[in-house]
Amino acid sequence: MEHQTMTTQSEMGDDFTLTAHELFHQWFGDNVTCASWEDIWLNEGFASYAEYLYEQQYYDPRGWMNQAHSYAYRSLLGSVRVPDTTNVSRIFDHDLTYKKGASVIHMLRYLCHDDTRFFRVLRTYQQQFSGRTARTADLQQLFEAELGQPLDYFFNQWYRGNGYPIFTVRWNQVGRSLFLQVNEGATAGASPGFFRTEVDYQLTFQDGSTRLVRFNQTQAGQGFVAPVDNIVTDVAVDPNGWLLMYPGTVQHDNSLVLAARATGVPELTLFPNPCHDALTISGLASPATVEICDATGRAVLRQPVQAAQAEVATQALAPGLYLLRLLSPTGERVGQGKFVKQ
Ligand SMILES: [Zn+2]
Repeated sequence: MEHQTMTTQSEMGDDFTLTAHELFHQWFGDNVTCASWEDIWLNEGFASYAEYLYEQQYYDPRGWMNQAHSYAYRSLLGSVRVPDTTNVSRIFDHDLTYKKGASVIHMLRYLCHDDTRFFRVLRTYQQQFSGRTARTADLQQLFEAELGQPLDYFFNQWYRGNGYPIFTVRWNQVGRSLFLQVNEGATAGASPGFFRTEVDYQLTFQDGSTRLVRFNQTQAGQGFVAPVDNIVTDVAVDPNGWLLMYPGTVQHDNSLVLAARATGVPELTLFPNPCHDALTISGLASPATVEICDATGRAVLRQPVQAAQAEVATQALAPGLYLLRLLSPTGERVGQGKFVKQ
């Protein structure tokens, strides 16, 4: 147990995670104390995160975090915030306050993209609230100041909210483009129903090399494209275990973006790609009809064109990958291309 200026332990054992935990309380708990039991994670989540930092310093810490995640997943409906501050066992809930709390701190570190920034916020927090109490909102403000962006969404999802996102990923490589169609769902009863987050994907290539790409999931269904110069054999979601996310599926799907597979059909020039409200197509044979299909092959838009260059309004399309075909008046495919609507 920690006491101001002193830690007492009944046993040491052969790992020092408990020592690290109690030692961290000299700062997170004693130097700065949570102002309400509602915010006990400011003490116990951080002290638990010290166990991870200790593992990171001397071993491979991923096992610790994986285990913390699996403890958190046992509670789909509980929040890090303690809603009932008269209930001692809820305040000191092992899965939510300690393990999910530490996991949320780990996601704040991921959000920073930079350990210098992350640890600077922790130091500022210790200096600014030294000898005093703090609320979760105080910590949020310091991260917002460091990152220059509002983080209400983050704290609503991970501190007030409950449940976890589930990622269903389909991928396909066409030439030098790797397409990802990512659909994000959530565990039953999750609040909010959608968790906004950046996600790392690890691409494994034929020669055994790997590369990380990071995409920002801002909507439930989203398509992404990564340029690649080698054959992709596997895609893994969040390979380093940064995020709380309930296990989903990853699938190589040949039907995703059927385009351009040596069909001899000319490739059209489409821009901007990715597009927002409008897509310009050049190199058109006219008169013809533009047909746009979503990643499942369903036609979602048809428009006749008369000139060599035309603009198609795309604001009504859901974000994702699309295949565009140019059809002659007799229905023959005379041009094609693929694009992403953001
Ligand atoms: Zn503790």
